[in-house]
Amino acid sequence: MIGKELLSSVDLMSQKNYAKWMRRRGKDGEDKRCAEKVVNKLRGVPNTWVDLLNTQFRRCPLCKDRRVAADRWHIKYKHHIELPSVVNIWKNEIVPISSDERLSRTEIKKRLQPIIEGHLILFDG
Ligand SMILES: [Zn+2]
Repeated sequence: MIGKELLSSVDLMSQKNYAKWMRRRGKDGEDKRCAEKVVNKLRGVPNTWVDLLNTQFRRCPLCKDRRVAADRWHIKYKHHIELPSVVNIWKNEIVPISSDERLSRTEIKKRLQPIIEGHLILFDG
């Protein structure tokens, strides 16, 4: 969700530090590559996204046992209601819009708001 590849960042940092070390020793090991550009995938995403994320950890509204969390697997196999996974919603519906750098924050929010609210209504319904 943070939009960074941790392994490639660590690798790049390691190469930069090696190059610094070689320069200190008098050898030219300069690495002119700069860090990869990071796209903020959360840019413009409305706060209702957090509400949708938290549906995974809320108590199941259908069970008498109120200690059961209402994750997608529980709802699917216990109550035979299939809801889309929050991860798939993120990958397929949120990120394509939020990572489009041509759109303003306001435009992203305006486009994502009805999508997220639709999923929230589906969960509560
Ligand atoms: Zn339940």
